[in-house]
Parts: sequence; C-alpha cells; structure tokens
Amino acid sequence: MDLICLDLDNTLIDSDKPHIIAYNLALKKNNLKPVSEKKFKKLFGLVGFEIIKGIYPKLNRKKITKVLEDHDDFFINQTRKYLKPFKDAKSTLKKLKKRYKIALISNCNKREIIASLKTSGLNKNLFNALIGYDSVKKPKPYPDEILKAQKIFHCKAEYIIGDSIYDIMAGKRANVKTIAVATGNHSREELKKEKPDFLFKRFKDVLKVL
Ligand SMILES: [Mg+2]
Repeated sequence: MDLICLDLDNTLIDSDKPHIIAYNLALKKNNLKPVSEKKFKKLFGLVGFEIIKGIYPKLNRKKITKVLEDHDDFFINQTRKYLKPFKDAKSTLKKLKKRYKIALISNCNKREIIASLKTSGLNKNLFNALIGYDSVKKPKPYPDEILKAQKIFHCKAEYIIGDSIYDIMAGKRANVKTIAVATGNHSREELKKEKPDFLFKRFKDVLKVL
C-alpha cells in the first residue's frame, strides 16, 4: 500500500478559534498584549514557536517556550471544545484508509494532536502514524515530518495533502507530490503560487485523484 501524508489543522478540522483563544490567554498570563484574529491567521500553519516569534519578534527563547506551554495547557484544558471536524473528513478518511497508509503530519505536538482528534470525533486508528513537530528537528515548511513518515514505513510518500503554503513547500522539499485544499487561511491564489500538483476546494475532492 502506498503512503500519503496528511495535515491536521484546517485540513481535517476547523481549529482556528480554539487556538486563537488559547494563544491569547497564554499571552495575557505572561503579561503580553493579546493580538487580533487576523494576525494569528496569517501565521497559522507554522509551528507555535514561529507564530509567537512572528507576533513578538524580540521575545527570548525562554519566554516563547513559556507562552507555548501555557497555550498548550489552555488548549487542552479549556478551548479545544471549540474544535469542529470538517464535514466529510471522517468518511473521506475511511475511504482513503482502505487504499493507503496514512501518516498524519502536524505542526502541533503529539499531545495536542491526540486531544484534537479525540474532541473532533476522529479515531486515531484512522491513521497509521501520528507525527508532530516534537518528533522531528525542523517542522514544516521543512520536509522532516514527511521524511520521518517515509522512514517509519520504509517507502516513499505518494502525496502530501494540506491547506497551507507550508504543507506544499514541505512536499516540494521532500520531492513528494502535493495536493492543496483551500479550506484554511491561505487563499487559492496564495496556494497556486506554490504550484501544487492539485488544488481542491474541499478535502473530499482528493478522492478524484486518490
Ligand atoms: Mg493546516
């Protein structure tokens, strides 16, 4: 069976709201001013460290790490209840699982991935591997999460599917075919610029080629 790599946030689940609230609670707790939804959405798709660095460029590593730990706790304990799976995510995954080995590759950490899946009603058995940023050295837009999946299954990945330009960049760097889905914060035009092999409106459209 061929291997495919799949992004989680804004590809399978609608997760902006719980993360924005959790980040702002964490900023507040660390005496930093909360920021607008718009500012977060521009940075989502990147790993948390880059998100906070993008908002407060002068913050030192230690402080950023503290904000991220607080975000994770707020997300797990308070805000993940706002997560919603996209319609057709589950049924599409079930169809794909019959034909492919599926590696979930996310710029969240494993603890957040497991909590997100649980809250969204997506059984973790729908995936053959769960790979978070904490499993690799350099997360998306670097190819490490894809390379890790290939190492686990001893085969080359057929595709990576994701909603952000960073998923497509990671795919190109890993020399894997790319499918962009316009279900997140990057527009069709922004995604098109990265030259994905396919660009679809909804996740379930991937069944046209897979
Ligand atoms: Mg995403």
